[in-house]
Amino acid sequence: MSISQLSRKNVQALTPYQSARRLGGNGDVWLNANEYPTSPDFNLSERIFNRYPKPQPEAVIKGYAAYADVKPENVIVTRGGDESIELLIKGFCEPEDKVLYCPPTYGMYAVSAETLGIATKTVPLTADFQLDLPEIEKNLAGVKVIFVCSPNNPTGNVLNQADLIRLLDITAGSAIVVVDEAYIEFSPETSMIKQLGNYPHLAIIRTLSKAFALAGLRCGFTLANPELIGVLQKVIAPYPLPVPVSDIAAQALQPQGVAQMKMRVAEVLENRAWLIGELKQIPSVVDIFTTEANYVLVKFQDGEKVFNALWEKGIILRDQHKAFGLQNCIRISIGTRAELEKTVAALKLA
Ligand code: PMP
Repeated sequence: MSISQLSRKNVQALTPYQSARRLGGNGDVWLNANEYPTSPDFNLSERIFNRYPKPQPEAVIKGYAAYADVKPENVIVTRGGDESIELLIKGFCEPEDKVLYCPPTYGMYAVSAETLGIATKTVPLTADFQLDLPEIEKNLAGVKVIFVCSPNNPTGNVLNQADLIRLLDITAGSAIVVVDEAYIEFSPETSMIKQLGNYPHLAIIRTLSKAFALAGLRCGFTLANPELIGVLQKVIAPYPLPVPVSDIAAQALQPQGVAQMKMRVAEVLENRAWLIGELKQIPSVVDIFTTEANYVLVKFQDGEKVFNALWEKGIILRDQHKAFGLQNCIRISIGTRAELEKTVAALKLA
């Protein structure tokens, strides 16, 4: 018997997440992972490496709580938002429970559930990429964790607040509603954070990977009421954050770091508007979807041809043709103006 045959059946069947880095490419313009295009600079101030780190470093928890305007007991810090997704399933799903999500959306909800051997139910978003509440309501039997994403990756739109509140109302006492706000800094007024006081089963995922420009750090958060946070504290690894990570995260969350983040957001929004203006003039573009994030989803006459043509030129975009309902669509992250200029020039020729 081969080693892979000894692995769990659900792992044998698993298609791992196709992360941007795993997909490779030979590029000098990387617009496929919704990163900020340039790196901030930090000096390490912590020099003690022989001791284990604090499991939940105070400076990071307090810094994020101050930034998000919640109490420290509403915050758990994790190895990126991706670990938050996994912890929520680990903490709440019995083997027979189900995870529900609404495609097209972020791929890790499905991959984390499948990795943990938890069955999934899907209720596709409506044609305008909003929640299909009647269908969700019909499919709640056995569902313990629901993942929704706003702004949604890869479509870019925000979900209607009233729908999210209705979702919280119909799931009270039966399921956890996870609102993934990885891109919330690009649309801060739409955050569900003000609902934390009303809904003990609401969990909000955040990250330093996007507007804070720290995807390489691997630092994310879940915000929720203390009882829910307590469940996640039980299942998280003993020392989730390496010393250099918490050192840099704490610096990034100082008022000066937050101010820099806001300047980055303003610049991204400006470049996004420029890109959209240019895309409107390109004949092969069929549709440009409304976005509130640092990327834009674009439908082309022949998406695969456009994706491959740019790939050959070292401009790496994110092909979405396999995502539910997104044939011929490509997601373009907002890079520097120079990167976007190169992209537009290549798109005009593709
Ligand atoms: N949620 C969404 C919607 C994302 O797009 C991503 C990153 N691609 C994450 C969560 C995870 O981000 P990270 O693990 O880098 O914090």
